[in-house]
Amino acid sequence: MSALLGLRTPGVHVHELDAVVVGAGGAGLYAALELKRDLGPEARVAVISKLYPSRSHTGAAQGGVCAALGNTEEDHWEWHWFDTVKGGDYLVDQDAAEVMCHDAVETIINLEHLGMPFNRTPEGLIDQRRFGGHTRNEGEAPVRRSCYAADRTGHAILQTLFQQCIKHGVTFYDEFQVVDLAMPLGPGGPVSGVVALQLASGEIHSFRARAVLLATGGFGKIFKVTSNAHTLTGDGVALAYRRGVPLEDMEMYQFHPTGMYRLGFLLSEAVRGEGGILLNGEGERFMERYAPTMKDLASRDVVSRAIYQEVAAGRGVNGEDYVHLDVRHLGSEILDRKLPDVTGFVRTYFKLEPLTDLIPIQPTAHYAMGGIPTDIDGRVQADERGTPVPGLFAAGECACVSVHGANRLGTNSLLDILVFGRRAGIAMAEHLRTAAPPAPDLAGEASVQAIVGGLLASREGERPAVIRAELQEVMFVKCGVYRTERLLTECRETVRELKRRAERLFVDDKGCRYNTDLSEALELGFLLECAEAAVASATARQESRGAHAREDYPERDDVKWLKHSFAFRDPAGGDPRLAYKPVTVTRFAPKPRTY
Ligand SMILES: Cc1cc2nc3c(=O)[nH]c(=O)nc-3n(C[C@H](O)[C@H](O)[C@H](O)COP(=O)(O)OP(=O)(O)OC[C@H]3O[C@@H](n4cnc5c(N)ncnc54)[C@H](O)[C@@H]3O)c2cc1C
Repeated sequence: MSALLGLRTPGVHVHELDAVVVGAGGAGLYAALELKRDLGPEARVAVISKLYPSRSHTGAAQGGVCAALGNTEEDHWEWHWFDTVKGGDYLVDQDAAEVMCHDAVETIINLEHLGMPFNRTPEGLIDQRRFGGHTRNEGEAPVRRSCYAADRTGHAILQTLFQQCIKHGVTFYDEFQVVDLAMPLGPGGPVSGVVALQLASGEIHSFRARAVLLATGGFGKIFKVTSNAHTLTGDGVALAYRRGVPLEDMEMYQFHPTGMYRLGFLLSEAVRGEGGILLNGEGERFMERYAPTMKDLASRDVVSRAIYQEVAAGRGVNGEDYVHLDVRHLGSEILDRKLPDVTGFVRTYFKLEPLTDLIPIQPTAHYAMGGIPTDIDGRVQADERGTPVPGLFAAGECACVSVHGANRLGTNSLLDILVFGRRAGIAMAEHLRTAAPPAPDLAGEASVQAIVGGLLASREGERPAVIRAELQEVMFVKCGVYRTERLLTECRETVRELKRRAERLFVDDKGCRYNTDLSEALELGFLLECAEAAVASATARQESRGAHAREDYPERDDVKWLKHSFAFRDPAGGDPRLAYKPVTVTRFAPKPRTY
């Protein structure tokens, strides 16, 4: 055991495995479970997670996971498919969304069989509730499509899958932070494993494997006000980008309408699904003006923009930058039984009583529609032509399949991680049966040693927290809900400058046990990569579509922009290179989007 990193060169611990899954959220766990079930007890399948698995952000998901089960009213998976495509403002690859919406029904039943404790109807079926943008018969009226376990759906999913993984003998490396991919520079691969820092000891571990899945979740911490956990720093996204893999549709970042004012914590859309409404400072139910049919249950981009417009018109509460969520009429039966966590948050953090008080809310950064490009089986794409990177897979929020296009519908993310996590696990098992073992790439081990050693030896430089705070501020203000050429150009320059400053970081803690200073310095690097790709893609896209609202280009432009962006990192440190790929349109021709 090395005593102090940086004071003496630590040896690298080597683990020989068949498959490595990075991330223990819903996507990673479902993939690991499928891999193990498919390959049998002899297979060496490991999940590496920087958090203890049950602390993954999937566990924070509240409202539900959707599938057109039709348990409480008529529903069809094709209606779900249409809603997903329209919700994504037609930037969705329709063949991929077809797979997701069709497979949803079987996936939920499978999950139930794995032990998931869903809420039930009086007849004993899985109960379903309304969510934004989910409609009957292509937009006629809201439909009940979200399956749920109170407002702790993600928690229940995570526990269910974790228990199954334990039962099937998946190996867990908890509190190991992956800091590099073992893969030659350039997206051609092949991948031969990952390099990680063990947080408890500060030692470096190399995990050699023929198949690697990145399932590291989102990067919401690039923004100041966010619903995302502190640990959602885009690690997997940045690691792929650094090795030359492009990032798809990074400009498409979702702001959820109902974050707790100033805190950003999420108040689930399930609150509006159960009948909660939004009121401006004049007490008016303003969503009736913006979305006459779906009202408060319009898609998230529409509702978030409506809140900004009310505030801009001086109709925020007391002239300030927030509006109210009103649940007073729902009664304690719904609030305490179906929405206990949300109700508890309001009581704890605001000291307000939801039965009698109005709740202050503002949009909060929430979900990355973009990420590492993959096909429908999680195979990472090296370019806009779909060339696979041998051995590298991605699933969950870090991946872009693309099923969410320019705006994700509520409850479609838990569905995405289940459907595509599972499919990635199956595809990895297939890969292991056929692919020859790659030669191990050892460059990653040496570079991690050098980076970690350098940070621990730092005597001067900037503190990561200072740069992170500046990044979060500029991204929230200049690359947020509304964007313009001027704001984005300024943002890009600031991000570039912050990247330069981050080359000389000072890490205060020189210890080896749970050195969070060191972890945060590494995470800052990941955040900066994600921000760079997001702002470059946003500057280039001269139209408004879904979550990407340009005040200088207010219309959607299908002639020029019905295409996915691919941002390639410049190894020389310049701006990313952008390329484009047409959207796959199979059934639904793009049309104007109203709710
Ligand atoms: C507050 C909140 C509520 C939500 N509610 C809903 C909802 O009701 N319905 C819905 O559909 N969606 C919801 N979402 C979105 C959804 O929960 C997420 O998109 C989804 O759970 C992501 O799952 P994942 O498996 O991709 O990653 P996560 O669950 O985020 O897990 C990421 C994993 O990666 C690991 N990891 C990250 N970096 C590293 C590294 N460097 N080394 C090793 N391990 C690493 C972490 O330890 C963790 O285990 C919500 C999101 C939030 C934030």
